[in-house]
Amino acid sequence: MTFIFIFTGIFRLQIYNLLTVELGKGPQNIITHCVPLYSNELPMKKLIIASTSTLYKGNYLGYLQQELEILFKDAQEVLFIPYARPGGISHENYTKIAAKAFDSIGKDLRGIHTFKNPIQAIENAQGIFTGGGNTFLLVQQLHDNKLLAPIRKAIIDGAPYLGTSAGSNICGITMQNTNDMPIVYPSSFNTLGVLPFNINAHYIEPDPKTTHMGESRATRIKEYHTQNTTAVVGLPEGSWLEVIGDTITLKGNPSARIFEKGKEPYLLETGAILSL
Ligand code: ASP
Repeated sequence: MTFIFIFTGIFRLQIYNLLTVELGKGPQNIITHCVPLYSNELPMKKLIIASTSTLYKGNYLGYLQQELEILFKDAQEVLFIPYARPGGISHENYTKIAAKAFDSIGKDLRGIHTFKNPIQAIENAQGIFTGGGNTFLLVQQLHDNKLLAPIRKAIIDGAPYLGTSAGSNICGITMQNTNDMPIVYPSSFNTLGVLPFNINAHYIEPDPKTTHMGESRATRIKEYHTQNTTAVVGLPEGSWLEVIGDTITLKGNPSARIFEKGKEPYLLETGAILSL
C-alpha cells in the first residue's frame, strides 16, 4: 500500500514537471534548462529590450550583434519602425543607418513608412525593430496610425522584437518614464504592455560628487511613484532585457536599478531573472 502511494506520488510529480515545463510555468531552473532558447515550436515572446543602440565609441548596434543574429535567425527581412526620428532625422535616412547594421548580420531591413498598409506590414513581419529617438513622437505616431495593438499581437504571436531606447520604452505599460521632452502630444501615454513594468532607458546613477542641482534620474522616478504604482526598471547603457516567453533576464552590463513604489530602489545583477 505504502509503495503504491509513494509510486503514484512520484508519478504525479513527474507529470507536474512535464506540464510546468510545457506551459512555461515551472521553477525557473527547469525552464532555463529544458526549453530551448528561441524555440519555434510554441509561439512565445522573444524580445531584446536595450537601453541604447550605441555604446560610447561603438558602432550602431555593434555590441548587440551576436544577440541579434540569434534573435532574428529565422527572419530574412525585418520591419523597421523609424518614427522616433533621433535628432529629427528623416524616416528614410534613419532606415539607412539601421539597415547597414542589419546588413552586417545578413538581414534586410525595410522601413514601415515604405508600406502602403502599415498594419499589414506588421502582420506579415518576420521580425520588428523599433529604433530610439523621441518617445513622445514615436508614441504619437503609433497611436495615430493604430499600430500598437498589431505590434503587441505580433510580439505575443512570436515575432522577434528588438527595441532600443524609445523602442524599448514602448515595451512597458506606459511611456511615463522616458527622459524625452514632450515635443508632440500623443493621444495616450499607454504603450505595448508586453512587460509588466515601465522602462527608463539610458538610466544613470546619481553622481555623489556632482555640483549639478537638477533632479537625478532616481529623484524623478521617485516623483513618478508619488502619483503612480507601476514599477520602473532603470536600464543603464550596455544592459538589455532578454524576454523569452514569460522569462525576463537582465543581460549585459552594468546592473539595472529597480524602483518599486514604497521600497528602497535596489540593484539587479546581470544574469538575474526579473519578476515584478
Ligand atoms: N531619447 C531616448 C532614445 O534614445 C529615450 C529616452 O531617453 O527616454 O530613444
